[in-house]
Amino acid sequence: MLTLIENALLWDRDHPVPRATDVLIDGRHIARIHEVPGKLRNEASAAQQFIDGTGCTLMPGMVEGHCHLSFTGPSTNADLGNIPPEDHVLASAANATLLLRHGFTSAFSAASARLRIDVALRNAIDAGQLAGPRLRAASPELTVTGGLGDERQLHQERHGFGLIADGPIAMRQAVRLCIREGVDNLKINISGDEFVPHVRAERSPLCTDELDAFVEIARKFGKTTVAHARSSESVKQAVRAGIDCIYHCDFADEEALDLLDEHKSSVFVGPAIGLVHNALIEREKFGLDEAAVERMGLQRKFDRCVATYQQLRQRGLRVVVGGDYGFALTPMGTNARDIAHFVNFLGYSAHEALVCATSVGAELMGNGQSTGLVRESYLADLLLVRGDPLADVGILQHHSSMAMVMKDGHVCF
Ligand SMILES: [Zn+2]
Repeated sequence: MLTLIENALLWDRDHPVPRATDVLIDGRHIARIHEVPGKLRNEASAAQQFIDGTGCTLMPGMVEGHCHLSFTGPSTNADLGNIPPEDHVLASAANATLLLRHGFTSAFSAASARLRIDVALRNAIDAGQLAGPRLRAASPELTVTGGLGDERQLHQERHGFGLIADGPIAMRQAVRLCIREGVDNLKINISGDEFVPHVRAERSPLCTDELDAFVEIARKFGKTTVAHARSSESVKQAVRAGIDCIYHCDFADEEALDLLDEHKSSVFVGPAIGLVHNALIEREKFGLDEAAVERMGLQRKFDRCVATYQQLRQRGLRVVVGGDYGFALTPMGTNARDIAHFVNFLGYSAHEALVCATSVGAELMGNGQSTGLVRESYLADLLLVRGDPLADVGILQHHSSMAMVMKDGHVCF
């Protein structure tokens, strides 16, 4: 199947100033790119599909770099454990389709609420049974007793998104279990979180021997490791252990920033600022009172996140976009809001923020597939956006801005 997209303004990392371009897609791949519109018409007279891109921007599909497809709108972490598994899988599948509809053609999972949900979604998407982004499937959040994700109470069994493993032996077993069940990414919670009263963000309950055991087994199987690390200590633990992608890093001190800097060719980071942003700035919309926001210290956390990422941007760290979407506070589908947060709060230009959301995210996906750029021989994961995202990255939040979402050369929406 040959598809010709004509006269769209092409933007990607390597084309910072958009120009009118024709792009020919042959099957799953980008076959030809020509900057003089109209020239490819002759070559592509056999094209079966012509798409007029006039007035639109053609850009790579976006990558959700901190994705939770199985977070289906809970208000609290424990809510996730109360959903019957059958309902949970269907709601997660709906999230996959919703995310693709909103222009995310790839999703790097930062944890699955239950062990096999991400795996089942990825397999169904790859088999063409479910419309969704390319997915790197994650484990649940590995944690320790009393850590973020341990929702149990002494008098009753409860589940959230955690898989609890205390000590290196249990940790090795938990990692092997997740790998046996087919995950691509292993997630571990090194620090706590302001949303959890008994283990706040600046606490680091995980011990180094547990973290080392986690990384050791993941490496043996060639899997990717990702970590929740808000406290400064947890960021240092993560870098020293060799974690591939470190999320949050809000409270990183100078030593932690220097460590990240030293390892910037091998590590990715992501602020996942959307959840804190909404809890703090739009708290009334979600029925959060001021006292709760104060109790959780969300203003301080937000300010530290902003200061950290302004630094990490200047130091040239590879930062991915994704903001913990999927909670009641952060409805799935609104994920592209985080691109605007990069511009409005973290000091990024629109071009830089869009690079984070496309080619940097594609690097993190790291699946040997060429995506994230509009380049000949790359997979045709493309968006045709009504208007100019460089003038206003905010337009990417709206499905109505998407004139076309193409994945694998196939027009999905
Ligand atoms: Zn998360």
